[in-house]
Amino acid sequence: MNHPMPHPSLLRKAMPDTFVDALRTRFGDRFSMTEAVRMHHGRDESAFDPMLPDAVVFALSTEEVAAIVALCSEHEVPVIPFGTGSSLEGHLLAIRGGISLDVSGMNAVLAVNPEDLTATVQAGVTRKQLNVEIKDTGLFFPIDPGADASLGGMAATRASGTNAVRYGTMRENVVSLTVVTAEGKIVKTARRARKSSAGYDLTRIFVGSEGTLGIITEVTVKLYPQPEAISAAVCNFPTVEDAVRCTITTIQMGVPVARVELLDAAFVKAVNAHSKLTLTESPLLLFEFHGSEAGVREQAELVQEIASEHNGREFTWATNPEDRSRLWSARHAAYFAGLQVKPGTRAITTDVCVPISRLADSIGETVADCALDLMRALKRAFDPKNIMNPGKIVALAEDR
Ligand SMILES: Cc1cc2nc3c(=O)[nH]c(=O)nc-3n(C[C@H](O)[C@H](O)[C@H](O)COP(=O)(O)OP(=O)(O)OC[C@H]3O[C@@H](n4cnc5c(N)ncnc54)[C@H](O)[C@@H]3O)c2cc1C
Repeated sequence: MNHPMPHPSLLRKAMPDTFVDALRTRFGDRFSMTEAVRMHHGRDESAFDPMLPDAVVFALSTEEVAAIVALCSEHEVPVIPFGTGSSLEGHLLAIRGGISLDVSGMNAVLAVNPEDLTATVQAGVTRKQLNVEIKDTGLFFPIDPGADASLGGMAATRASGTNAVRYGTMRENVVSLTVVTAEGKIVKTARRARKSSAGYDLTRIFVGSEGTLGIITEVTVKLYPQPEAISAAVCNFPTVEDAVRCTITTIQMGVPVARVELLDAAFVKAVNAHSKLTLTESPLLLFEFHGSEAGVREQAELVQEIASEHNGREFTWATNPEDRSRLWSARHAAYFAGLQVKPGTRAITTDVCVPISRLADSIGETVADCALDLMRALKRAFDPKNIMNPGKIVALAEDR
């Protein structure tokens, strides 16, 4: 997301009494204006100071979301969807006040289709919940952004995470969405078929839209067969550059690693302290391989060879599930390990997206986006009154 606007108080308008009364009457104790509830919904895991919504509504169905958004549209009140609040970039801050629409209670797995390799869930279902509920099918949902985020929130932020190298991000794994538009209409973006060439790709317009174009109420995602074998490996390098070059060669050679993550020496130190590990404190790559027993062995041997060509040393295996999950839980806790290095501080996080050929040069660089005018036009078309999570992704004139 873009940096939240600096003068929030100038942009706030009081919610009309008739609007508040209508929500209170319909939603009873699922409508709240208490400070504690607003505080929980007006912040995320980022370093930004909280900016509270004026009220929070807890929806339980697509129809309820549609009714709330229609009311927001009528009274021109901003509405910010809320999944689990795990975002790291200030997405949830209520810059212009309004309501936070919490969909965490919309948590039913609606359909699992093993033949199509898809599942359809309500937006509040979390990724771990989905994996528990489909365990017996032999399938799993691989996208893992660290936090146990909601599928609606993950679609809205185009979440990626540690498995992206093999399974892609939410962009590749959302098949279709049910969305409530800024006028309160219910739209299905596509059918369950994985491939379609009819019309604009509405699904992918909403994936990554951070609640600025509509509210996702149902998500159909791809599922994958659970791998027969999984193994993990850690390899240390003398420099970050060596580790990056090893990753580039691995990917260019088409080795289908499931996960590969880089930690620099300072981060390894932080993770050791936080998760009580004894990893060698130099740059390291953390790998995971999925496949058949033979396939996993072959991938790992190949990567070990590539690593040694790039000065890799101490290639260590973790084949049993406990060691593997200890390593990856340490990676998942890396954000909090970083915070613990200097207690009382908060972190600024961001993503850097570059072609693989520029990966080594890109550490520490950011890439500017030059399609802002087109995005503003899109925002205007989808949300003419600018009520959907205003001030995020692109700033319109009235946000400044
Ligand atoms: C320790 C840690 C590690 C992380 N690592 C990664 C990582 O490696 N990769 C990665 O991609 N992310 C990572 N994240 C970020 C986080 O998990 C994602 O941002 C997550 O996808 C957000 O889901 P959520 O349910 O918490 O959404 P929220 O935080 O509640 O909302 C995020 C945004 O999505 C919008 N939104 C939420 N629900 C909906 C909906 N139903 N319809 C429309 N808009 C909606 C909100 O308005 C907001 O703009 C990490 C987070 C933590 C805490």
